[in-house]
Amino acid sequence: MALPLVAILAMIPRTLPLWQKSLQEAVSRPSELLELLRLPREVLGSTDQARAAADQFHLKVPRRFVDLMEPGNPDDPLLRQVLPVAAETTIAAGYSADPLEETGKDPAPGILHKYQGRVLLVLTGSCGIHCRYCFRRHFPYPERGWNHRDHEAALECLRQDPGIEEVILSGGDPLSVGDEKLADLAQELQAIPHLKRLRIHSRMPVLLPERIDGAFLRWFCEGRLQPVMVVHANHPRELDGEVRSALLRLRQRGVSVLNQAVLLRGVNDRVEDLKELSEGLFEAGALPYYLHLLDRVQGAAHFDVPQEEALQLVARLAACLPGYLVPRLVREIPGAKAKVPLDLASALLAR
Ligand SMILES: *Cc1c(COP(=O)(O)O)cnc(C)c1O
Ligand code: SF4
Repeated sequence: MALPLVAILAMIPRTLPLWQKSLQEAVSRPSELLELLRLPREVLGSTDQARAAADQFHLKVPRRFVDLMEPGNPDDPLLRQVLPVAAETTIAAGYSADPLEETGKDPAPGILHKYQGRVLLVLTGSCGIHCRYCFRRHFPYPERGWNHRDHEAALECLRQDPGIEEVILSGGDPLSVGDEKLADLAQELQAIPHLKRLRIHSRMPVLLPERIDGAFLRWFCEGRLQPVMVVHANHPRELDGEVRSALLRLRQRGVSVLNQAVLLRGVNDRVEDLKELSEGLFEAGALPYYLHLLDRVQGAAHFDVPQEEALQLVARLAACLPGYLVPRLVREIPGAKAKVPLDLASALLAR
């Protein structure tokens, strides 16, 4: 007897890893997010403008991240990072679509070589979350994963340049690519003798801690290259128990774990929050690395914390924490040889 197609499909075992399922179930409609948090539509500001903001860069947030938000609080620091609001359509002077002037700078598609000794491989335009302040919000990255053939040219660039010691997998979020493809890529990289370190820049360990599973840890930790993971958490509440244990799993497998955050108005612009963030990271075996001043990307002006205020804030942080828990306050300046650290001296010496 012939079975209907649905019955046959139901018999195929589910092979999708847990994290991919969680990604598929992410919240993508602002109205649903507001409902989940029991918030009125007015939180969005002008309806037309809020819709324009959501059309330009659509809402995407995993459900477990929503679970960490406080219901009924329109100013929740986690909500502010993801909710498309009318303010994004304000045109602000000094803000552009490509503040880092990255467009057209690649030696091969998917490779960015700005700093000596390390290159960034852009594996995908896809992320597990859409952060409203992201400078990549206007980039025409295709929403598809790493494709080996497309990137053969990028690998060839790496093989040809013995000055490169570290490869940084980036995106989008490189961990939105599946482990089979990533493991293949890691093998290719290990075969390049002048490479020493393999670094990943990802928000996934904080968003979906289940992403740090056995399949991932195998290819990332068991190879020849020294593993470094730079995660991205902005607020201490992002570091719940599951996230902390994911970071500890990395640490226990010999990964150096660092965090980069962006200083954001209404999210983490208070000393107490930054202090708690550093302490939470350290409890999970991670160190704060960079605190970025906002990249001046069009649509993000309402997140800006002026440089002078940022300096005061980090100086106060430095006055109450050990040096290793104070992130470096940096700004990206097009053409600079590295991220540019801001000098805390006068803020620290002021009486
Ligand atoms: C930020 C960045 C890096 C990494 O810089 P580090 O200071 O080593 O963390 C590398 N390449 C590019 C293009 C970058 O933007
Ligand atoms: S690249 Fe990073 S900051 Fe930008 S949207 Fe993706 S996860 Fe957020």
